[in-house]
Amino acid sequence: MKRLYIKTFGCQMNENDTEKVFILLGDSYVKTDNPEEADLVLINTCSVREKPEHKLYSEIGRYRLLKSKRPDLLLGVMGCVAQQEGERLLQRFPYLDLILGTQGFYRIKEALQTIENKGSPVIFNQLRDDFTIPLTLPNKEPPRRVKAFITIMQGCDNFCTYCVVPYVRGRENSRSPEDIIEEAEHLVKKCGVREITLLGQNVNSYGKKHKGYVDFADLLNLLSQIEELWRIRFTTSHPKDLSEKLVRTIAENPKVCKHIHLPLQAGSNRTLKRMNRKYTKEEYLEKVNLLRAHCPEIAITTDLIVGFPGESEEDFNETLEMMEKVRFQEVFSFKYSHRPFTVASKLGEEIPEDIKEERLTKVHKLQESITESILKAYLGKEVEVLVEGRSEKDLGKLTGRITTNIVVNFTAPRLDLIGSLVKVKIEEAGKHSLKGKYVETLKC
Ligand code: SF4
Repeated sequence: MKRLYIKTFGCQMNENDTEKVFILLGDSYVKTDNPEEADLVLINTCSVREKPEHKLYSEIGRYRLLKSKRPDLLLGVMGCVAQQEGERLLQRFPYLDLILGTQGFYRIKEALQTIENKGSPVIFNQLRDDFTIPLTLPNKEPPRRVKAFITIMQGCDNFCTYCVVPYVRGRENSRSPEDIIEEAEHLVKKCGVREITLLGQNVNSYGKKHKGYVDFADLLNLLSQIEELWRIRFTTSHPKDLSEKLVRTIAENPKVCKHIHLPLQAGSNRTLKRMNRKYTKEEYLEKVNLLRAHCPEIAITTDLIVGFPGESEEDFNETLEMMEKVRFQEVFSFKYSHRPFTVASKLGEEIPEDIKEERLTKVHKLQESITESILKAYLGKEVEVLVEGRSEKDLGKLTGRITTNIVVNFTAPRLDLIGSLVKVKIEEAGKHSLKGKYVETLKC
């Protein structure tokens, strides 16, 4: 049987797409972790930031060496950069065999067949506005696992001025609730999955463009009826679309985890407007207050961009003020970088690299102290942990997450608790995770 190696860059959605490629190829390819022995090498790419895009180019060069030793090896690029660059990738790297965009990779079988028949490279990177993700279920017994992702929608209509997503993932389109439920039931019943993370660029607007679809809150409620599914997570939520109904669902549905990733991006209204985020900092704070009023234990994490074109020192200080006010559990912060096609890349007023670096350091420093105090508040408490596996740093320990998405590493009398929900007493708080000891098993 032929072997397939996929190197994945970027977000959870890309990881999910990688998984789908293996499913789509069914029995014709088996997975290998060693590119040296692969018959097909794919690089699943991300172009949301500059860095991973640059990494791709050095990665292609690496696999070119393999291909020069074994000319029958097929080499392809999929994902956002394949979508964005298409034909240009082939001009730059003429030895590539496959270029499969964010919708095109679903046609991988057809692409491989075409290469076999014609011997010429294949490019599938057309974007269709009406594209919806097809239902892709494993046709053979998949390995048992605790967690899985389900992509519930694709694309985005928001056009934030710094973001390439609408250009490389297309217009927003939701999958039908029936397809999503069928996939979830399959994962739970056939694969033993206990926790599902629903993925979309803006899950809060799920179903809005489709007559007859439920909204996101109702989708959560429908999924929570799957008996052996214990936990549901989701990402990402656009603050402008966070409704009171969804907030109540998060608070009241015990299967929905008490964590929301709510990207703020910047703390000054001037920058938010230039980013086309469609909310003010006051409106963002109202959403935070609503969440905490209904669900006081909820953890809020966020994304921040520093050094957006024209961001003044005062603008940046407002971002720091917002961090103090909201007290995010975790912040994913990035220096602004130009992305192709975007409005922000033409704004001018660029912020020098050393100032961006300085601002990023300030964000890190402030967040470190906030995260530290949030984690310290767990000391001595008993928490529910869904056990995901052995701790990477200490194989004698188990690891899992609590509902608020914090990682807990803990000692237990037995190591065969993977997939169980256990109670753990917290004894130590680290910079990003907690340590504790097993108390009892709650569900297995
Ligand atoms: S909401 Fe904005 S940042 Fe998020 S994917 Fe859409 S355009 Fe990009």
